[in-house]
Amino acid sequence: MSQRNVNMSEEKEYAFVIEGKMALPYQYYAGAIGSKFICALRDEKKILGVRCDACGMTFIPPRQTCERCFADLTEKWVELEPTGIVTGFTVIRYREPYQPKDPPYVLALIQLDGADTPIAHILECGGPNEAKMGMKVKAVFADTPANSMLDISHFEAVRL
Ligand SMILES: [Zn+2]
Repeated sequence: MSQRNVNMSEEKEYAFVIEGKMALPYQYYAGAIGSKFICALRDEKKILGVRCDACGMTFIPPRQTCERCFADLTEKWVELEPTGIVTGFTVIRYREPYQPKDPPYVLALIQLDGADTPIAHILECGGPNEAKMGMKVKAVFADTPANSMLDISHFEAVRL
């Protein structure tokens, strides 16, 4: 393959913008553990995780097998506090068809008190530039059932 120099006028000539559409509607079986988690969120406003007796890790969303030591976590439910801290975040500034809300908004990693794994969720904290690492937050549950993680509507900053 030969290499050639491209000047700017040629580059513009060959710089195409390709319009495309991609929609991938899908469904999946949440399984017994995922279904119990969602029902507890939706019906009881409870956030359930699972705790591994063997290594002490607490997972949310709950999972059937410990990712660290492979112990069975099927009946190791624990109720987690609806509070936690922000361990990472980004500001969503573009619009996509399946986003949960219109941009701009903050999508944060939130480590709930008592959990060892973070969850990603919407953070409302007074504006996209107000999010901070380590910010204390609490869950705000949805008024209408979503049958998903969006049964937590969002997290909001806890004013201390
Ligand atoms: Zn374990």
